[in-house]
Amino acid sequence: MKKIAVYPGSFDPITNGHVDIIKRGIRMFDELIVLIAHNPNKKALFTVDERLEMIREVIRACENVRVDSFDGLLVEYVKRTGANVILRGLRALSDFEYEFQLALINRRLNRDVETVFLMSGFKWFYTSSKIINEAASLGGSVKGLVPEIVNLKLLQKYSRDGGK
Ligand code: ADP
Repeated sequence: MKKIAVYPGSFDPITNGHVDIIKRGIRMFDELIVLIAHNPNKKALFTVDERLEMIREVIRACENVRVDSFDGLLVEYVKRTGANVILRGLRALSDFEYEFQLALINRRLNRDVETVFLMSGFKWFYTSSKIINEAASLGGSVKGLVPEIVNLKLLQKYSRDGGK
């Protein structure tokens, strides 16, 4: 059986912590789908199209990885695509409780799907989209914490002339 994993998240925007999980995930599964799980009630910095474009650029050279977006129930998407694993990354203890809840509800909703966790890479332990956005919005450099295309997009977004 082909092992297909879905790596869901907001990716608003994708960081090097996410990229680390993707690269390690590729080695474990036959196919990996990075899924922008779009929540219309959650205020996002980047539109889904902008996030898709950035992720596409980041995974361009990677085989067996693709990106998609979805705004429904995650286990439905997983079933529809024939995937059998949900991949998530774990950072500090603070991630643990929420991730545990999410894994349990998803397992209750579909017992055929397992959630697999990868520990954050040491370098990315404190990297989150939220912190990146906050630092960038105040003019701080986030170079090296995000892929270069994301760094450029953030600079555009927060530059005083709106990147014109
Ligand atoms: P959410 O939409 O739940 O806030 P994100 O889009 O930030 O999630 O991240 C998606 C997944 O990637 C989550 O499992 C999250 O824990 C994980 N993740 C985010 N940043 C990192 C990081 N720096 N290292 C490892 N995993 C991470």
